[in-house]
Amino acid sequence: MIVPEVKMMKEKFRQFMIGRYGTDALSKFMLITAVVFWVLNMIFGSKVLYTWAVLLLVLAYVRMFSKNIQKRYQENVKYLEIKGKVLAKFRKEKSNMEQRKTHHIYKCPTCKQKIRIPRGKGRICITCPKCKTEFTKIS
Ligand SMILES: [Zn+2]
Repeated sequence: MIVPEVKMMKEKFRQFMIGRYGTDALSKFMLITAVVFWVLNMIFGSKVLYTWAVLLLVLAYVRMFSKNIQKRYQENVKYLEIKGKVLAKFRKEKSNMEQRKTHHIYKCPTCKQKIRIPRGKGRICITCPKCKTEFTKIS
């Protein structure tokens, strides 16, 4: 059961939000980061973290209540782009680390091309696929 006052407040808020941008992935990220900074500030008592937490909180709300929907939308697209790149980098780093368990990564002494060689093959002669330089390594 919803109390009539709460219902009225909700209605007022709905009307207030008409023509305004509202929440998106970027503002959610900003709010979460603000909370994380706030908690860290409580642990470490850092003025810098406190300032960033407040700044992020204010900015997140400014974006939500903004009437410049086009611009806010573009900011969110940019954020999602950067987020995608960061996640891709993490995934690549993770697969590199897994590869290191089964493979050695050698650099060609001439052209610095990275070459992946399976471990445990003993002394091997490697031919660089790029510049055809031959070098020996122990895998
Ligand atoms: Zn090479």
